[in-house]
Amino acid sequence: MRGVVFLGNRRVELREFPDPEPGPGEVVVRIGAAGLCGSDLHAYRGERAQTHISGHEPCGTIAALGAGVTGWRAGERVIVHHYAGCGQCKYCRIGYDQLCLHGHRTFGFGAHGANADFLLVPARCLVRLPDALSFAEGAAIACGTGTAYMALTKLGVSGRDTLAIYGQGPVGLSATLLGKAMGARVIAVEVAEPRRALARELGADVVLDPQSEDPVAAIRELTGGGGGGGNPRLHRPSGRAGAGGAECTGVRPSLLRGGRRDGDPGAEPGYHPPPPDPLRVLDFPQRGLGRMRAVDRRAGHSPGSPGHAPLPPGGGRGGLPDV
Ligand SMILES: [Zn+2]
Ligand SMILES: [Zn+2]
Repeated sequence: MRGVVFLGNRRVELREFPDPEPGPGEVVVRIGAAGLCGSDLHAYRGERAQTHISGHEPCGTIAALGAGVTGWRAGERVIVHHYAGCGQCKYCRIGYDQLCLHGHRTFGFGAHGANADFLLVPARCLVRLPDALSFAEGAAIACGTGTAYMALTKLGVSGRDTLAIYGQGPVGLSATLLGKAMGARVIAVEVAEPRRALARELGADVVLDPQSEDPVAAIRELTGGGGGGGNPRLHRPSGRAGAGGAECTGVRPSLLRGGRRDGDPGAEPGYHPPPPDPLRVLDFPQRGLGRMRAVDRRAGHSPGSPGHAPLPPGGGRGGLPDV
């Protein structure tokens, strides 16, 4: 089969690989569509040559099933969740393979990925793709739209909420679409006009251009001041917009990702994370797992209060308490 390998410095190569054979519990997926997202661009633009097939947003049909696979049949349309853990530990058993206590493989990053004719994965990584959705839509859901959905689900978004969503790229636009579907009032913040137009099209109640107006002041105004009563919440205020987003509400959610820090190849260029203290970590209570935390710096919340560990200097996975 053919597979696309990133050679570093924006070079790619189409290479021949042996067709995969499914082992026990595994399936081979014939790829119908594979997405590219920002995570891929880090590897594509980076200097290091990869040896594995790229692509972590796979969607297609089941081509072959290994021994012991039940509940699936050849030809079924599927999305692939691109993390595979041990399948046995407490995190894997509830679907959080990315937190596997014994390490995980990531298809497209270190393990062969989706930019190929076929992809070999454990059957437990499959998600059914409804007939109403195309392969391209399934590929988008595999990572970006799924990321937005998970964040909103963790926040427990409902008709009580106002969401301020900083950035209307694929993940932010997905959050706008899903946030509206969950009943929230959505304020979309975006610098690029075509994306602001898309945000309007997808139902954002208010669309702000932070180049022409102060989004913090605007959001405060829209929510009756400082978010009080409106209960605004933020989705993924990463990058430079994040610090401003924090000022809207007094609560600064922070998506802490895999130990990345400023200066790492994966860190956003020019992004300098704000100092981590004196802040306090709040776990989202509905789903105690995952790495999404809110950092509360409202008056009366001092660092080191009982029951909450302070965010370690530099943040990142290594220093975080187990949740
Ligand atoms: Zn992705
Ligand atoms: Zn595990």
